[in-house]
Amino acid sequence: MTAERDRVIVAGAGPVGLVLTLRLVRAGVPVTLLEAAPADTFLDQVPRAGSNQPATLEMLAEIGLYDRLETRGLIAPRFQYWDRERSERIAEFDHAAIGDDTRFPYVLQCERIKLVEEAMAMATAHPACEVLMGTALAGFTQDESGVTATVNGPDDETRPIEGAFIVGAEGARSVVRKTLGIPFEGFTYPDRVLNIIVAYDFARHGFTDRNYLSDPEEWANLFHWKGPPEAWRVHFPADPDASEESLLGDGACQARLQRFLPSDTPYEIVGRNLYTVHQRVAARFRGGRALLAGDSAHVNSPIGGMGMNSGIHDAMNLGEKLVDILRGDAGLDLLDRYERQRRHVALATVQAQTIRNKRILAEKNPEIRRQNHEMLRRTAEDPKAARDFILRASLIESVREAAAIQ
Ligand SMILES: Cc1cc2nc3c(=O)[nH]c(=O)nc-3n(C[C@H](O)[C@H](O)[C@H](O)COP(=O)(O)OP(=O)(O)OC[C@H]3O[C@@H](n4cnc5c(N)ncnc54)[C@H](O)[C@@H]3O)c2cc1C
Repeated sequence: MTAERDRVIVAGAGPVGLVLTLRLVRAGVPVTLLEAAPADTFLDQVPRAGSNQPATLEMLAEIGLYDRLETRGLIAPRFQYWDRERSERIAEFDHAAIGDDTRFPYVLQCERIKLVEEAMAMATAHPACEVLMGTALAGFTQDESGVTATVNGPDDETRPIEGAFIVGAEGARSVVRKTLGIPFEGFTYPDRVLNIIVAYDFARHGFTDRNYLSDPEEWANLFHWKGPPEAWRVHFPADPDASEESLLGDGACQARLQRFLPSDTPYEIVGRNLYTVHQRVAARFRGGRALLAGDSAHVNSPIGGMGMNSGIHDAMNLGEKLVDILRGDAGLDLLDRYERQRRHVALATVQAQTIRNKRILAEKNPEIRRQNHEMLRRTAEDPKAARDFILRASLIESVREAAAIQ
């Protein structure tokens, strides 16, 4: 194997590609990281994730990233469920219940772009990491000893790059997944989600930093972010047939917010966007020396804050295995275990739970709503049930479950 062929090619400098890169280079494995966006516009991205779960915080600490993020985020130990129809808080869960299970008994509300920015600074500074900005993966081939990626660089020149493995961390439209011909199985919700970013202190109405509101007509999520600017994001379902202009217009967004919480003065809206929500899991996470991680392998509804988190868990799991293989301590079949472990989590935890989360919030049947709320109330009041619930929501249970899969 040539020196080139000890290298891992990572496509996509999102949270997943960056975490994988850091995990590998810190263990001495050279990485070429390909990012399609040019360096000068790389950080101008649509706001997305940001609830970093306790299991993820442990991993971010392992690669030296946590300390750089803590001061840029909000420590959120609690989350609440509300019945929006009756303006009533149903249940509050406090991560103190998992204080014996983790040294991070809280969620860190730290916007995805901050994680990307800090991780990119660390990757760029690392001598074992070559970062190619404005360089998109176009395809790849592989043989028994390695892979050859074809990339389109900033001047539109096409060139090959060799490596031992290639990891598709380039999001839902993954070139690696498509090149391997792997089906992306699942469905897309007909209704989109409207995200409105508001400069207003919702805490004075009893909300905590993370809130889920059920409603038969218009469920909502409400999250607090440090910024700057400090703001809250409110998510609402958006009519599949309505035009973007009609949903995103000033009047329409103000009307939504006024219906959510009437106010004498107009809300100061600092951002808004619409997104489509999918529930899909790749039929395989591996094709020879090519692997999928993060959104390229699975996409899900953001209700519950699990997509980026579970992608980061893929990256850490895969990184460890690639290091073992490249050191000669394990064979290629270890990568099948990666698929077994992480595909199980994508289906049995992330997909199952986010589908359930949305169903609970959007339920229309009054009797089922009442039963759901009663279940949440009883769970929050029972210390053992509350701990189990938070272990699932914080993805600690999924990491333990995956570790038990051979
Ligand atoms: C509104 C919203 C809120 C969310 N909230 C949460 C949350 O609170 N918690 C949570 O866990 N998840 C959340 N998610 C999901 C989360 O954003 C994604 O799961 C996460 O960003 C996936 O990371 P990734 O690195 O796999 O892919 P991405 O973040 O999509 O990054 C992929 C990168 O690859 C690059 N790229 C694309 N194609 C190529 C190519 N051909 N070659 C090279 N580079 C390429 C892209 O430019 C990008 O930089 C949310 C999503 C949305 C839409």
